Amino acid sequence: MSDWTLLASGQTYPPGTLYVVATPIGNVADLSLRALHVLGLADAIACEDTRNTGQLLTRVGLQRPLVAVHEHNEREAAVRIVERLRAGERIAYVSDAGTPGISDPGARLVEAVRAAGLGVVPLPGPSAAVTALSVAGDMLEAGEGRFTFVGFLPGKPKARADEIARLAVLDHAWVLYEAPHRIADTLAALAAALPGTRRLLIGRELTKLFEETPVLTVAEAPAWLASEAARGKGEFVLVVEGVRRAEAGDEDAPDAEAVRVLKLLLAELPAKRAAKLAAAITGAKTDALYQLALAQRAE
Ligand code: SAM
Repeated sequence: MSDWTLLASGQTYPPGTLYVVATPIGNVADLSLRALHVLGLADAIACEDTRNTGQLLTRVGLQRPLVAVHEHNEREAAVRIVERLRAGERIAYVSDAGTPGISDPGARLVEAVRAAGLGVVPLPGPSAAVTALSVAGDMLEAGEGRFTFVGFLPGKPKARADEIARLAVLDHAWVLYEAPHRIADTLAALAAALPGTRRLLIGRELTKLFEETPVLTVAEAPAWLASEAARGKGEFVLVVEGVRRAEAGDEDAPDAEAVRVLKLLLAELPAKRAAKLAAAITGAKTDALYQLALAQRAE
């Protein structure tokens, strides 16, 4: 037994269990030692696309029976997998890339296995969102570590613009996935909807040969994409920073949460009292909240 196998086997892998295994988002060496161990132990590997997963297994020197479980057959396939688990098999589930269930199928299978009273064990590993966030630096820190995971924006321009408008007021970073054929439209939509100084991190081709992770303003991003023809190809994850106080033109301007609390209190209390309480609850400046409360009352 090699050293890594010993490390990975320092835990039990009971039969009759579904193992949900994250796989690389580009670089095959990101498959964890434990994932390799469990894929090797599995009686079968359920996967989104048997050709894709077959290639991954070949590259790491494994051969296991594959079962297709995709968006269109997830319910029926889940029934068959539950039967096999009941018979005592170990089944692994992998999506095409990254962590199953994150903008990927897997949720229905997990639900079916849980509903049958059988075990589900997650094996952590790569995810494009978390990989990009790990180098987002102060964009993440400004929101005290909070972020909103959005995944793919709606495809239709109106629905996409509405969603961007909803996200634009968040006081913390948000994370988008985008396909190569829509990245130019999405960067243009962000530039049109957000203040030009708002920053975003573009994670392009993460973990691959032509990986890039520039931090740009939304105004700069469309030109960055257009400046090299090959840029539009590849896979993208975007981390967009939340509203900065400075962006509102006033360091003391209350953030979105303080405004929300103030509005709730204003429905019940006089402006001065509402501003004082909202300041105590959220830490925003009383004066700024009082001015805002007067403006709200005047509307
Ligand atoms: N489950 C995956 C995960 O955990 O990241 C996401 C699957 S989703 C169907 C595919 C999207 O993830 C791509 O369109 C892209 O937005 C993002 N993505 C996947 N791999 C990437 C990579 N290497 N670099 C940048 N984005 C990537």
